[in-house]
Amino acid sequence: MRQENKTLMILATAILLSGIGYSAYQNSLLTDEIVSIKKEFADKKIELESLISDLQKDLETTKIERDGWEERYNTEVSKIAFLAAQVESIKGTVGILEKIKQTDTELLKKYSKVYFLNENYVPSGLVAIDAQYIFNPKKKLQMHSGVSEHLKNLLDASRTEGINLSIISAFRSFYEQAGVKSAYSVTYGAGSSNQFSADQGYSEHQLGTTVDFTSINGEQFAGFDKLPAYEWLKNNAYKYGFILSYPKGNSYYIYEPWHWRFVGKQLASDLYAQGKNFYDMDQREIDTYIQYFFDK
Ligand SMILES: [Zn+2]
Repeated sequence: MRQENKTLMILATAILLSGIGYSAYQNSLLTDEIVSIKKEFADKKIELESLISDLQKDLETTKIERDGWEERYNTEVSKIAFLAAQVESIKGTVGILEKIKQTDTELLKKYSKVYFLNENYVPSGLVAIDAQYIFNPKKKLQMHSGVSEHLKNLLDASRTEGINLSIISAFRSFYEQAGVKSAYSVTYGAGSSNQFSADQGYSEHQLGTTVDFTSINGEQFAGFDKLPAYEWLKNNAYKYGFILSYPKGNSYYIYEPWHWRFVGKQLASDLYAQGKNFYDMDQREIDTYIQYFFDK
């Protein structure tokens, strides 16, 4: 072989060998890179798994917290409902107290020889009774403003049922009763009070809540209890809040079948149901009815 050819052979062999070497080197680099990437993935996986686990824990905590808040919310809601009920109840109590405060306690007092109205007492409001209900329509009669509607209802109901009822007397002031022309010309002493208190039924007229009934046919006081009008009153007046103050055989005053006093529907109904008379009931028990006095 020639020298040139030898040299070429050696060169070619060298190039081939170095090519193989380089390739092997390249392969080795690639393998390293894959291993590194795999490791990186494995690390990332662990990292992500840990993150997921943390998030799951957070979610659990949030759920527990949410349940806690829900429970607290419900507790607060029921507390508010309870307070609202309390407020309503207090409002109701205040309403009753307000009614009691605003209702004149004299309106439910028993009058007797030892307890009678002050001569200066005047009802808080008086209204004229419609002439159609007055026995003598030319006579002007007045009634307590809170009671006039109840009286009108009673009279309308009786007339609807064919009962002839009208009023002969209603509110009477102390001076009208005493027949005193000028209130200023007379000074009343303690002794004279007893003289007036002897007319126990009079105090009730001064309240403006009491009326004397008569029948349209002209029957006056005498024999009133023999009339259908009286029978009707005995069975129905309580529905309109009226009671017979001085029934037959009572021990506190003369029998007055025409004389009816308004005490409120509640008390009148209870007295009727129990078969009791107003003057037989204890004053303390009567006083508990003041809150219902003007109830419709
Ligand atoms: Zn009377």
